[in-house]
Amino acid sequence: AWARVKRRLRAELGEDVFASWFARLELEDVVEGTARLTVPTRFLKSWIESHYLDRVLTTFKAEIAEIARVEVGVRGTGAPAKAALPSAAKPSAASPLARLHAAPQPAPVAALAQSTPEARAEGGDLTGTPLDGRLTFTSFVVGRSNALAHAAAERVARHDGEGALYNPLYLHAGVGLGKTHLLHGIGHAAREAGRRVIYLTADRFMYGFVNALKTQNALAYKERLRGIDLLILDDVQFIQGKSIQAEFGHTINALIDAGRQVVVASDRPPADLEALDERVRSRLAGGLVVEIGNLDEQLRVSILTARLQSVRVSHPTFEVSPAVAAYVARAITANGRDLEGAVNRLLAHATLTGTAVTMETAETAIRDLVKNREPKRIKIEDIQKLVASRYNVSRSDILSERRTAAVVKPRQIAMYLSKVLTLRSLPEIGRRFGGRDHTTVLHAVRKIEKQIGEDAVLGDEVELLKRMLQD
Ligand code: ADP
Ligand code: MG
Repeated sequence: AWARVKRRLRAELGEDVFASWFARLELEDVVEGTARLTVPTRFLKSWIESHYLDRVLTTFKAEIAEIARVEVGVRGTGAPAKAALPSAAKPSAASPLARLHAAPQPAPVAALAQSTPEARAEGGDLTGTPLDGRLTFTSFVVGRSNALAHAAAERVARHDGEGALYNPLYLHAGVGLGKTHLLHGIGHAAREAGRRVIYLTADRFMYGFVNALKTQNALAYKERLRGIDLLILDDVQFIQGKSIQAEFGHTINALIDAGRQVVVASDRPPADLEALDERVRSRLAGGLVVEIGNLDEQLRVSILTARLQSVRVSHPTFEVSPAVAAYVARAITANGRDLEGAVNRLLAHATLTGTAVTMETAETAIRDLVKNREPKRIKIEDIQKLVASRYNVSRSDILSERRTAAVVKPRQIAMYLSKVLTLRSLPEIGRRFGGRDHTTVLHAVRKIEKQIGEDAVLGDEVELLKRMLQD
């Protein structure tokens, strides 16, 4: 079960976060619903506790229902804790687990550094996160929504000498829209041009820094970061902690002032990085800020086609007809990650069943991905039509001035559903219901809300209408 918990954490948090914080997390034992975990350093302990404890607990519970609490301790400095603690024995006073509860005073930095020789080794080689060989400019498909970001990325990678205009280059977009892909593309291209590049995710940046501070290598670490030509930082929205934010600010300032390139990606524009200091935010906003938009259908088809082609290299018999590809690209609207997931599923399906991918098998294979897509836009007109037919009146009855009970009730339900299922304002809804006043709509919404609370049958009825509209 522990192996499954770890696997789940890795899947949920991503390889990089997992490697940074959880790779050396061990389960010591479970006592009365408390899972006792250990890590080799105090820093790791406090980091996991302050950032990931809830997540770890949830993951544990999903695998082992009895777990109610999670504790993180620091393993002893000598032999690994497993050896120090025979099987599932209750911790004796001298064991590492007993020390857990003794709430150790923070040791001076020098003592800590000595106590964890492995941490020192880590600080040394964790400067950068490796680049993924598949994420290059060549494999990046350019479309309307990412053309500007792509052009800026290429220019920065080639370093035209117009540096200041593009420094820093700040890319932002929702998940799966190609930020990391472009950052790796920049990294590859710049390295090929012989420039010294470091690519870091926010987690790796923080980990490297705190480790360096702890092992008294901070100066060396900073110097290493500042001695490069190009620093690429991914997912900066995750940078947390006062001292690390300050170091982050110093680092980008020092690099930019020295004419070195900084590239940053985030899920939001610089102004929305609430955790960061105002000066750091404005520095980040001071270069070129580019947003990558949602993938339009044409771009999704192109990404999917490219992806299918690259899979064909290792699976030559894997065939997906253009019609199926078009279907998948239309069904999966969310992002590039889901498109990649779809290709993997189609491939798994084809390999396991040994059959060609038909429209039907494609539909089955990607069903869960399609379900995950954004809720569809519901039109007020559709609500009116559905409710009318359900109550045997006409849509024009609903829009009319008639005030008989047979018409008033469906009208009010339709107004209620319009308020709950669309983003329209009350006045707008009133307008769409034959030019009624917003107070009429408000009255209807309140009335139906109240009736649903009192009348379970009506509640079910309205719930059913909602489902029918959402499907
Ligand atoms: P983000 O970092 O914005 O969350 P990623 O760069 O990780 O997104 O992209 C998610 C997946 O979609 C990756 O497999 C990536 O290669 C793919 N992808 C996204 N945009 C494109 C694109 N324009 N061309 C090719 N692949 C893309
Ligand atoms: Mg990313």
